Amino acid sequence: MSANILIVEDNPDNAQLMDYLLRAAGYKPRVADGGAEGILAFELSEPDLVLLDIQMPEIDGFQVIESIRAQVSPGGGPPVVAVTAFAMVGDRDRIVQAGFDGFITKPIAPDRFVEEVESHLTERRGRTGSGRSVQ
Ligand code: MN
Repeated sequence: MSANILIVEDNPDNAQLMDYLLRAAGYKPRVADGGAEGILAFELSEPDLVLLDIQMPEIDGFQVIESIRAQVSPGGGPPVVAVTAFAMVGDRDRIVQAGFDGFITKPIAPDRFVEEVESHLTERRGRTGSGRSVQ
């Protein structure tokens, strides 16, 4: 339960809900308000899991994951999970192609959210000596 979770989300209500649900389950997530802050927080906190909103102004989720993947060795780094409402046709394909490890759909379901997060937390990315491990 000591996993270090990074939430990157520009909508305060969604960020607060995810933070609340994870804290209620014993986690102490870090919340980054938007893409730029998310990239910085990733560098500083070396999270075990990233929950990444797709639709954000200026730097969106696709740009954030591109930056994250560039920072870690191929196949390495923590799981990155998209949190999205799938507003447009083709979004799912684009998310898979962008290298996300999974997705959680909005609106966030309070009764299922932590379980969904934990299912991604126990997944290990096939890594080749990146040095980071998922607890
Ligand atoms: Mn958003």
